[in-house]
Amino acid sequence: MAAAFLVALYEYSPLFYISVVFVCFLVTSGLVMGWFGWDVPVILRNSEETESNVKVSQKQMRQVKNPFSLEIKNLTTASATSGITLGLDCLEDCHLTCYWDCSVQRLHEALQAHARCLRLKTPQAFEDALCNEYLYRQQYHIKKTEKEEKHCQLPEEAQITDFGPVPRSRYPLVALLTLADEDNREIYDIIAMVSIIHVPDNSYRLSCRMLYQYLLLAQGQFHDLKQLFMSANSNASSLNSPPSGRTIEDDRVLLEDVRLAGDELETPEESSKDCVVCQNRPVNWVLLPCRHTCLCDECVKYFQQCPMCRQFVGESFPLSSQTQ
Ligand SMILES: [Zn+2]
Ligand SMILES: [Zn+2]
Repeated sequence: MAAAFLVALYEYSPLFYISVVFVCFLVTSGLVMGWFGWDVPVILRNSEETESNVKVSQKQMRQVKNPFSLEIKNLTTASATSGITLGLDCLEDCHLTCYWDCSVQRLHEALQAHARCLRLKTPQAFEDALCNEYLYRQQYHIKKTEKEEKHCQLPEEAQITDFGPVPRSRYPLVALLTLADEDNREIYDIIAMVSIIHVPDNSYRLSCRMLYQYLLLAQGQFHDLKQLFMSANSNASSLNSPPSGRTIEDDRVLLEDVRLAGDELETPEESSKDCVVCQNRPVNWVLLPCRHTCLCDECVKYFQQCPMCRQFVGESFPLSSQTQ
């Protein structure tokens, strides 16, 4: 049909035919190059003019200092019978309180109570909120800046080898870190950290892991600490897959691991975390919601999708604002 029309047109006037084809070509080129302002998503344009279209909104972040750091040292060998080794690296003197076999409902009620009025800044306040709904408690004093390892284990006389059938209404282990010094509680925004740890036993052999970490703020909020995903040459723990199904407040704010960000502030040239695109400048931007931290200050302008996982970037924020 179209071919017959074109042939008829050519026979009528070759010159008119050529001009029609040329106009069609110009209109098509215009559409593809975006001369009319319509966005053609398939074509990636790399000019200054389009940079503003690609720009992803920047999430406003507030940097807070986290005095607590807790990690599991014996991930592969930890169990209900042999216990668990926790590595601590805190900025201030702290109390580490471990609650074995702690009620899930009571713990979340305690967190809600913290948000309402009762501030869980001491082990005693936490314990009152738990209403004794745990099996066994251990407390340790942690000296500041000393990297300490504490081995927590249920006493043999408790004769616990199993936390019961799944699904469970109790967490195997809840580790609470609080500031030991009263004055420090006024200085820091973050006054406590609650770590919920799965410890394998006879009926649920899933390997030991950190399920959730909540940071409790002096003003009453509590935030779910999330990991950032960085390239393999950084800390291996950041490559763990994020736990899913978290159920705290909808407006969750992602709190970066401030210690990690702090290191980068001090020694950007020492970090080997190169941008995945230019391989040249240090990584500085966290993309949300995927939390891949893979782009430098320059390259972040050109990406609407994460170069690691192709997920669309809703928001992003810099780890260090010094270079901005
Ligand atoms: Zn780059
Ligand atoms: Zn990603």
